[in-house]
Amino acid sequence: MSMARSAAVLVLGAVLVLTSPAAGDVGVDAMPRGGRKMMGAIGEARGVVVRYFAKGANVKAAAAAAPPPRPAPAPAGSPDQFRGQPRLPRFAAPRRYDLRLRPDLVACTFNGTVAIAVAVSAPSRFLVLNAADLSVDRGSIRFRDVAPKNVVIFADDEILVLEFAKELPLGEGVLNMKFNGTLNDQMRGFYRSLIVSFERVLFLSFIYLVPFDCSKYQYKGKMKNMAVTQFEPVDARRCFPCWDEPAFKAKFKISLEVPSELIALSNMPVANESVAGPIKSVLYEESPLMSTYLVAVVVGLFDYVEGVTPEGTKIRVYTQVGKSNQGKFALDVGLKSLALYKDYFGTPYPLPKLDMVAIPDFAAGAMENYGLVTFREVALVFDEQSSSESSKQNVAITVAHELAHQWFGNLVTMEWWTHLWLNEGFATWMSHLAVDSFFPQWNIWTQFLGDTTAGLRLDSLEESHPIEVEIHHASEIDEIFDAISYDKGASVIRMLQNYLGAERFQKALAAYIRKYAYSNAKTEDLWAVLEEKTGEPVKNLMTTWTKQQGYPVINANLKGDYLELEQAQFLLDGSSGPGMWIVPITSGCSSYDTQKKYLLKSKSDKLAIKDIASQCGTRDKGGNFWIKLNINQTGFYRVKYDDELAAALQNALQAKKLSLMDKIGIVEDAHALSMACKQTLTSLLRLLYAYLEETDYSVLSHINTVSLSVARISFDATPGLVGDIKQVMIKLLLQPAQKLGWDPKDGESHLDAMLRPVLLDSLVRLGHEKTINEGVRRFRIFLNDRNTSLLPPNIRKAAYLAVMQNVTSLNRSGYDDLLKVYRKSAESEEKARVLGVLCSCKDKNIVLESLNFLFSSEVRYQDAYYLLQGIPVETREIAWVWLKKNWDLISKIAGDTQVGGLIRYVVTLFTSNEKAAEFSSFFATRKRPAFERTLKQSLETVRINARWIQGIRSEPRLAQTVRELLQRP
Ligand SMILES: [Zn+2]
Repeated sequence: MSMARSAAVLVLGAVLVLTSPAAGDVGVDAMPRGGRKMMGAIGEARGVVVRYFAKGANVKAAAAAAPPPRPAPAPAGSPDQFRGQPRLPRFAAPRRYDLRLRPDLVACTFNGTVAIAVAVSAPSRFLVLNAADLSVDRGSIRFRDVAPKNVVIFADDEILVLEFAKELPLGEGVLNMKFNGTLNDQMRGFYRSLIVSFERVLFLSFIYLVPFDCSKYQYKGKMKNMAVTQFEPVDARRCFPCWDEPAFKAKFKISLEVPSELIALSNMPVANESVAGPIKSVLYEESPLMSTYLVAVVVGLFDYVEGVTPEGTKIRVYTQVGKSNQGKFALDVGLKSLALYKDYFGTPYPLPKLDMVAIPDFAAGAMENYGLVTFREVALVFDEQSSSESSKQNVAITVAHELAHQWFGNLVTMEWWTHLWLNEGFATWMSHLAVDSFFPQWNIWTQFLGDTTAGLRLDSLEESHPIEVEIHHASEIDEIFDAISYDKGASVIRMLQNYLGAERFQKALAAYIRKYAYSNAKTEDLWAVLEEKTGEPVKNLMTTWTKQQGYPVINANLKGDYLELEQAQFLLDGSSGPGMWIVPITSGCSSYDTQKKYLLKSKSDKLAIKDIASQCGTRDKGGNFWIKLNINQTGFYRVKYDDELAAALQNALQAKKLSLMDKIGIVEDAHALSMACKQTLTSLLRLLYAYLEETDYSVLSHINTVSLSVARISFDATPGLVGDIKQVMIKLLLQPAQKLGWDPKDGESHLDAMLRPVLLDSLVRLGHEKTINEGVRRFRIFLNDRNTSLLPPNIRKAAYLAVMQNVTSLNRSGYDDLLKVYRKSAESEEKARVLGVLCSCKDKNIVLESLNFLFSSEVRYQDAYYLLQGIPVETREIAWVWLKKNWDLISKIAGDTQVGGLIRYVVTLFTSNEKAAEFSSFFATRKRPAFERTLKQSLETVRINARWIQGIRSEPRLAQTVRELLQRP
């Protein structure tokens, strides 16, 4: 799955909402990237296995005949014995589902029948499977034509227990039942989404579609429903009774009864279709072995573009009616991705077709359903005229991510959610590998450090979790679709690949995919294959990174001719945790030609400088001497240098001797060390200033994020100085911004185009008057001429932000104009862009009105987080009061997948221990497993900021340094 990526990420720090280095205007994977790497940065922010099967020469055959995992002794007693278990019992397992669904798009209900071939492997009188929010017709239940004597549903455990009078015979039998349910509006299970009205849709509606009457939604007064599934992680059970765990792989034969005029898609191609008046029956081919969370159905109206791979696999991209052109870019990336992965894994794409569909209402960024990948619109469609440059990149990354899952996740599946990172870490890493190959000029691996930074930030909290995390209840799973599973996961894979070498790593991964195809694997299964194929101690090395949370900071001190290294767990609260890692250290000394690699296996170690490099340059002042650890930031750790080493690196930085990735690493480490009060803000400001002449997109994105963070913490830490600090930041960003200007230049690079909005947005946020005035001027022209070349999509957000800076309750015309733009736009990207700025003014009444806009029928639930991400620190109290007052409604609208992100957006605006206590007491009676972890992380962030503020207030030289930096030419 891809998280929904926000235009901005919430950054740990007093910094509220910061532009993500990795995400641009409206991003992808990051959206509500779950609890589903949802919302922004920490814990989100931006958007995942034991083989029970007999191993043998023919793994496929072995898996197909898979006996149930871990046969257990036959249970006796009452159905109660199955309550409170994290997993289903193993004495029965599904082999094949015959599933028939009939959605009613008017009544917003569905009914269905399922026949499940179940293999019973140990004597029992019970069958136990998952079901939730379904009404199961008890009288219809038969196993081997025998009715159960007792049917019990345990709602809390989301299980259905069937008790039979006699012991079930061993071997395979068929379980039949009928059920019905509601097409919900929660974007999970089997749900309804609204088709946006375009002319053709309207025309068709006269002919075919029945009036919409079962939803609160209105869109331009004309709405139509479609039916969509989203099952990951545990919502297949909301559509049909099933063994809803990834290890229970089975084959699926699906059929649908739907309105004749609609397009009906499922994982496999259509085998047979028959029309009877207004209803058609569609039967799909039987799938290969797959997990329930990958089953999918989409029923709606679309147009599509189509391509075919050299092997004959048909790929289609489905978009809104009349907009199929906007699917061409995704189609191109899809075709290239399938070719690349086929070569990389040495295994062809396993299904006969691949559909990618843009869904109007979608909680995550995208979902990798086998053969039927669903996307948030902004993550799939790209239009030269109306999309921003960052959108294009976002589409490429998301498509490459979801298609990587077709191997990593779908073909080889995690055995249990503890190993979610095997899905998400790998898909994230693979997507960068693929996009780097398709678009080398995008420098995507340098941009990947934005992902690494998100992982490092979340993992520097006490309330983080290990990559391999224990799951006790289904409701805990949503929250681990976070920066640990995705970003830390992908980063430790990059670290391992760097250590093993690209070619060895690829061969071993291909062997792993072949070995576990159509089956399940755990993390240690991967390590075993990597060890076998490379001869390296992979398991020992990697276990320290995946089984314990956190990561180390390496303290580097130069003592004579030796470099002393010491590792300690890095935590933002300034404490030092107990963790110890095997750290792949890389180092360079005065040049990139003399890199060294070795493993730090103990608490500390001592390296002779002459062993690091024969030629290190002279260590006199003004010499070329420098030492950089973690070359190109391939390692998942931070480095704290002693004063001499830090000064030498700053000189090397100014002398332009360092790589882009190292420049990013140095400023990110310094930022984190400052937040943890291990370094002063004063020294961080001096370091930032060393980036004055920087021009690279990725480096400046990080400088930008750090600058906004510093400006935000200064608001509370040094109110008298915040104006001057903002001026220093403006000075840093203005030079590259002026060089780029507002207007795109002929033939400019993708990265320059991406950089422009990053700089302009921040200059506006920092209050740079000239930029604000220019933004307002261009917006006024745009209002009269929507096709003006003065405001292309790429820079539109900066202008919108500029408009909001001047809005007040008494002067609200700019705000009303933006609402008009929102209402007139049919593009998801444009709507997200406007929503993202509505809360960004400093007038409390306007912010409140914007927040309440969330409750109107004009905002889709999926877009809630766009609105909340833009709240400035000046109006945080009004946002908190609003959240408290409307909590019941907000938590319903946001649902389990988004609610944690919304809490985080508001709570982390604050920076005092008193406020943290107030949040704690408010949520004490409102806790839900779906956001418990996120809440704890948010409270910890508030306390970390409170501590940071105290540290800043005790810095004697801060004011003097700020003045000095301002006066420098
Ligand atoms: Zn994913």
